[in-house]
Amino acid sequence: MSVALLTIDLDAVVANWRSLAGRLRAGAECAAVVKADAYGLGMAQVAPALRRAGCHTFFVATLDEGLELRALLHEVDILVLNGISGSLAPEFAAARLIPVLNDPDCVALWAALARERGEALPAALHLDTGMARLGLPPAEARRLADDPGRLGGLDVRLVMSHLSSADEPDSPENARQLAAFRALRARLPMGRASLANSSGIFLGADHHFDLARPGIALYGGNPRPGEPNPMAQVVHLQGRILQVREIDSGVPVGYGATWRASRPSRVATVAAGYADGYLRSLSNAGFAFLGDRRVPVVGRVSMDLITLDVTDVAEGQARPGAFVDLIGPKVPVDTVAAAAGTIGYEILTALGRRYRRVYRGEGA
Ligand SMILES: *Cc1c(COP(=O)(O)O)cnc(C)c1O
Repeated sequence: MSVALLTIDLDAVVANWRSLAGRLRAGAECAAVVKADAYGLGMAQVAPALRRAGCHTFFVATLDEGLELRALLHEVDILVLNGISGSLAPEFAAARLIPVLNDPDCVALWAALARERGEALPAALHLDTGMARLGLPPAEARRLADDPGRLGGLDVRLVMSHLSSADEPDSPENARQLAAFRALRARLPMGRASLANSSGIFLGADHHFDLARPGIALYGGNPRPGEPNPMAQVVHLQGRILQVREIDSGVPVGYGATWRASRPSRVATVAAGYADGYLRSLSNAGFAFLGDRRVPVVGRVSMDLITLDVTDVAEGQARPGAFVDLIGPKVPVDTVAAAAGTIGYEILTALGRRYRRVYRGEGA
């Protein structure tokens, strides 16, 4: 076996969901965001595990993700963040997906379908309170509030907004968005209210409203960057050593000869590369663990391989066939991300298709 092993701990995902749910103010529900194949970890495994734990509300990004989830779970609420577009609206209705309506055209489209079918179609309204990304801008939201007939035929289950800076608790954006959301919510009081993503949960009870929408924290990412991570680790990525080379001082390693041994060295070549989501920006920057030894990535990350300086590791330990931790207890996702100059979200969603995936825990 020359491939890397990706172990995903479903019990840790469930424990994280329970711990987030336990932080919410009384009466608030904890949903789960499983878009992008549950942040790369496998929606088909993650969503049923959360369902068995009691999660009833799931968010995906696209229609296709919603259809895939509906085939897995028949009785849950599935909200589609990217909303609907014209000809696809009937597919949403057929699969009982709840579109997040992001602009007046989407509202009109979904309401027209509701009237045509003579049934109240469920919907969520997304209000933009400071991201200028998706959602009704404040002026549009006020216009809708002044003309509620435009929501005729719709069963508005949720009114939501999204925080731009929840991972920076001191950012004034949080209070600004909270105030903007409260003001708009007062004029659109139907259904339940939702504002917090993972980090938003840690901003305090006034951000919780009726429903929280965590994603990254379920998967072990730190919702409070800079502070100890309160979440259980979910991902363990082990790369296999293919070959160990003894090289003299001065010998270059990898493409572009960007690293040269400064002493007689041993270099282990491991089967994982940027095609597997081990980002090229980890060249001469990332590190792995071999047992309890930190072993730095030396030279460039190539498509299928990386090279590690294992000079300081016992020879019997750094041998072909041995595993190194590329992500693990001593190299958490956020640490890999920091070394790569990115965020844990990108590391997880880039996790490769070539890894052998093993699911651990209840329901695995
Ligand atoms: C992705 C997403 C979330 C989840 O965010 P995390 O930071 O991963 O917790 C919540 N709400 C919306 C609108 C999103 O797009």
